[in-house]
Amino acid sequence: MEYTTAKFTKDMKRTHTILVPNMAPLQFKLMKAAMEREGYRVELLGNCGEQVAQLGLKYVHNDTCYPALLVIGQFLDALNSGRYDLDHTALLITQTGGGCRASNYIHLLRKALYKAGYKQVPVASLNFSGLEKDSGFQMTLPLARMLIAAVLYGDLLMALRNQTAPYENEKGAAAALTDKWIAALSRQFHAGKGYSAPEMKRTFPVIAKEFAAIPKTHTPKVKVGVVGEIYVKYSPLGNNNLEEFLASQDCEVNLPGLLGFVQYCCFNMSETVRLYGGSKLEELAPELLLRWLDGLEKALCGALKDAGYHAPAPFSVLRTLPDGIIGMGNKMGEGWLLTAEMIELVQSGYENIVCAQPFGCLPNHICGKGMVGKIRALYPQANITPIDYDPSATRVNQENRIKLMLAVGRERLESGGAAVPHEENPFYGQAPQISSAAPV
Ligand code: SF4
Repeated sequence: MEYTTAKFTKDMKRTHTILVPNMAPLQFKLMKAAMEREGYRVELLGNCGEQVAQLGLKYVHNDTCYPALLVIGQFLDALNSGRYDLDHTALLITQTGGGCRASNYIHLLRKALYKAGYKQVPVASLNFSGLEKDSGFQMTLPLARMLIAAVLYGDLLMALRNQTAPYENEKGAAAALTDKWIAALSRQFHAGKGYSAPEMKRTFPVIAKEFAAIPKTHTPKVKVGVVGEIYVKYSPLGNNNLEEFLASQDCEVNLPGLLGFVQYCCFNMSETVRLYGGSKLEELAPELLLRWLDGLEKALCGALKDAGYHAPAPFSVLRTLPDGIIGMGNKMGEGWLLTAEMIELVQSGYENIVCAQPFGCLPNHICGKGMVGKIRALYPQANITPIDYDPSATRVNQENRIKLMLAVGRERLESGGAAVPHEENPFYGQAPQISSAAPV
């Protein structure tokens, strides 16, 4: 049966407010500004609560991935709230364009809207893969450049805030500076400025220096990395406010940035041609884009390092880390990137890792949870806890499991066996040395 809902037309840009699920809070606030610059009226959704998952369960098959269930539930909850003029409201959902189910959430959403009686609410797609060609919401070059800038600035602010807040002398200083920069960058985006490569390269060090100037006292903390399926990794709705919980446990949190996922998607396009064939152009075009992104990443990491902060390994290193553990052909969902991020975190001294896994997600159970044994065999100091997120999992249960992991981390910290900072780690940035005797 065809579940037909309204199409998002070009005219709706002026007449409709577009609701967007807030996946990565910092990056998405800047993406909102980028879309507003292009003339869209955008609102990031912050509604949460038990009813969101329940609505998702009511209108989506319960075998569906948890992120789809939550995003669809959140949209329906917003439409039910009475806050929006339903004839002038549209929804925006991301499509990765990869082989995984995330490319098809849009059809599940339309079906749910149809069944819930919201046939007049159009759905637009945010994608870089040329999907939904007949939609009035199209990716233009300026919008794409501004969205990428939003990812880079958001990643930088996230890294600086997370490495400053646990040590700041005045509580809330890092959060206030983050808000200040989000507002300043949003203003720049609205004016069509701040998103070119030279502007970003000039602004990154300015931001980093301001964070470095916040008075801090460096007392040893348990360092925790967070990896996982992209939605539950970043979204406070998806992971029950994981970052906030870890901060409340006196940890320093490291969430690998969203840029890595963008680079991974680019790399995979060329890798598909190398593995399965295709034209030279199909292989080369994403490689050129990747090279451009690598240049911006270098500027971002340089700004972090120059200001005295930890910078993540560049993508060119990241993609070599899973050598001998998992093949580059594992590119459904977060695929090999998830394994690479865990190795990079362990090598960087963030040995305590939460691996966030949604219910219904097969690829990430293979590349995340499924790789934990191998990583532990190669890096015995790795203290990784896979946490499942699904409608029936209780927050208390999830937090108790994380507390157990933190207890091990704290014990190591107190006994002096804590992480070696990555700069002093002789194996930093190297693929693990796998001998035939290694129990992998
Ligand atoms: S990565 Fe996992 S959660 Fe995401 S679409 Fe694929 S199966 Fe679903």
